[in-house]
Amino acid sequence: CIFCKIVNGDIPAEVFLANDDFIVILDANPKVEGHLLVIPKRHYDNFLDFPLEVYEKFLVTVKDAVEKLGVKDFNLILNNGKDAGQVVGHLHLHILPRKEGDGFEIGA
Ligand code: AMP
Ligand code: ZN
Repeated sequence: CIFCKIVNGDIPAEVFLANDDFIVILDANPKVEGHLLVIPKRHYDNFLDFPLEVYEKFLVTVKDAVEKLGVKDFNLILNNGKDAGQVVGHLHLHILPRKEGDGFEIGA
């Protein structure tokens, strides 16, 4: 799994922040400036496999990343399953900082 390889340091990524359970990296193909991916260090295929016990840490990590970005306007997107656009089969959340006129459209 490509994200497991990133977590293990086997392939390089721009790490924005990391803690015991998550890494936050810059998306290699950013849809907007500052596009981040929040990735659990443990492999879960998707949202439905992600244990409830980890949610608080997950959301704290999201908040830490957003605060570090220093933005107020952003989208959080989780593509769950192939038909919903999930390409990498290791659960991850997109953080998309938004600016007026940035041209990004959800679903586009
Ligand atoms: P998804 O469509 O939700 O599965 O999103 C996968 C995301 O991972 C895409 O936005 C890709 O640009 C991004 N991505 C794929 N491989 C890498 C990589 N090696 N480093 C950083 N981002 C990646
Ligand atoms: Zn994985």
